[in-house]
Amino acid sequence: KPGTGPDNVVVIGLGRFGGAVADSLVNLGHEVLGIDSNAHIVQDWSDRLTHVVEADATDTEAMRQLGVQDFSRAVVGIGTHLEASVLTVLTLAEIGVPEIWAKAISVKHGKILSSVGARHVIFPESEMGERVAHLITGRMLDYIEFDDGFAIAKVRSPQEAIGRTLADTSLRTKWGVTVVGIKLPGEDFTYARPETVVPPGCILIVAGDTSKVERFAAET
Ligand code: ADP
Repeated sequence: KPGTGPDNVVVIGLGRFGGAVADSLVNLGHEVLGIDSNAHIVQDWSDRLTHVVEADATDTEAMRQLGVQDFSRAVVGIGTHLEASVLTVLTLAEIGVPEIWAKAISVKHGKILSSVGARHVIFPESEMGERVAHLITGRMLDYIEFDDGFAIAKVRSPQEAIGRTLADTSLRTKWGVTVVGIKLPGEDFTYARPETVVPPGCILIVAGDTSKVERFAAET
């Protein structure tokens, strides 16, 4: 079993979501204990994670024997099987894992997961759907919304800003958004400075209240 250092994470349910989380954690240098009840999936992941075990995560005794209670962080990627998802989160909470991240497929599913002990609930499909809607309807090239009504977007610079310095464009006063980064054609992103001149064809990273960022991307 992997050591239980602060960088180690247990990932339960190695489907599309849990698998992607586990893969990225390994790439980021973390040790990952993967658990799945499906023998074929365990086989597929055996040489990609630190340890992979075939077990039913709703079985409290099995989880204890694997030492899951010694991990400070767990990710539950079981989504479609509601009962298994809820019972797994409950099991982890009962054995004392403090940081439980769990995937939900509906709002009510998410509420249940929170109430049985998930500290973080993720809605991959609806969050990605919302993000894609922003990308296909506006001029946004990328978009991230935080749950406190704050967003960051990557947008083509508006016509009104071209040829002027960021200080002169007064985008903050006019639109309520702050330019945090700017990408000139063929160059890397750089921090925005008041004296930076906006050339034609450049890309801005803007931050602000969700509604203001949306308005800026739609109307400029
Ligand atoms: P995704 O849509 O991200 O692929 P799924 O819900 O389809 O997610 O995948 C869930 C994974 O969780 C599957 O690999 C399945 O074998 C596993 N799983 C389901 N129930 C349990 C359980 N009780 N214990 C451990 N793993 C489970």
